[in-house]
Amino acid sequence: MSKRDFYEILGVARNVSQAELKKAYRKHAMKHHPDRNPDDAGAEEKFKEVKEAYDILSDEQKRSAYDQFGHAGVDQSMGGGGGQGGAGFGDAFGDIFGDIFGGARGGGQRVVRGDDLRYNLEMTLEDAVAGNTVKIRVPTYVGCKTCDGSGAKKGTSKKTCDTCGGHGQVRMQQGFFSIQQTCPKCHGSGETISDPCNTCHGQGRVKDHKTLSANVPAGVDTGDRIRLSGEGEAGENGAPPGDLYIHINVKEHPIFVREDANLYCELPISFATAALGGEIEVPTLTGRVKLKIPAETQTGKMFRVRGKGVKPVRGGAVGDLYCKATIETPVNLNGEQKEMLKSFEESLSGKKHSPQSHSWLHKVKEFLG
Ligand SMILES: [Zn+2]
Ligand SMILES: [Zn+2]
Repeated sequence: MSKRDFYEILGVARNVSQAELKKAYRKHAMKHHPDRNPDDAGAEEKFKEVKEAYDILSDEQKRSAYDQFGHAGVDQSMGGGGGQGGAGFGDAFGDIFGDIFGGARGGGQRVVRGDDLRYNLEMTLEDAVAGNTVKIRVPTYVGCKTCDGSGAKKGTSKKTCDTCGGHGQVRMQQGFFSIQQTCPKCHGSGETISDPCNTCHGQGRVKDHKTLSANVPAGVDTGDRIRLSGEGEAGENGAPPGDLYIHINVKEHPIFVREDANLYCELPISFATAALGGEIEVPTLTGRVKLKIPAETQTGKMFRVRGKGVKPVRGGAVGDLYCKATIETPVNLNGEQKEMLKSFEESLSGKKHSPQSHSWLHKVKEFLG
């Protein structure tokens, strides 16, 4: 496998200074970074090539070996296996982050975002359907106000870590390979605090509660999540915070059951109204509506009330309300009422008044032979 010349890859002269080299590396690394070239399959290879060239040329010892012997002088894979010196894509990514983005912060700092938080929000069906603004209070880490998140006592400042020289990473030689590890002294931050802040003990953040007001959009349902970007725990040493996720749980409603955009409820109807027909009031989430009950209504009949369901949070048409008729048997009858019912029953002449028991009896007969 013939390799391209490292100086050529970075587009620099052989007598390039370290500062110019770094500039060229940043330019090429940014250009070929796979995140910026999602449609270019070759970008990752080019990125690795740039990274390898820079790794060698930025190291005085390796650079002079390369100048003298070419690729043979620095090829780490000669020891057998390990590919390109064992520098996987993950390492390369970590490095470019530390180098380019962390560089502006004055050291090879590794940025560790704060943790995400989860808040379980119980709400009524009415609120979930209509939407609501809720105030929530969550235990969390917030940035320390005493030291503005730096972790160092007021009036003092952090020092560059003397173990890693501020890179946050140390190289360990192991046989032919050199392995990069997070610095054990500063844990990757590249800085150490000799005089820690008394409030946060050098963490740059403190345990506290925060109260937030969150907009719950209309139409949410159990299992939905709302993300509040940046409202999670503060990161250590001023690192960016995580996100807060509100998990919705809708409480059981005494009347309505929701299924996607539709609502369902039971509708008790007196047997006289069911027989003769009439008009009854049914509840909806936004008040009562009148419903016409046709004569000879049987238990189990579904009445649809258009547009009295839910408008789903992800869009789509408003659902309907379905009311399931249940014919009620009268209770607590007095003697006179019982007599009236008896004579009423006697007045019925069999099957033509009872459509269901007629077909039911027919089925029983067939079943028993
Ligand atoms: Zn260190
Ligand atoms: Zn502090």
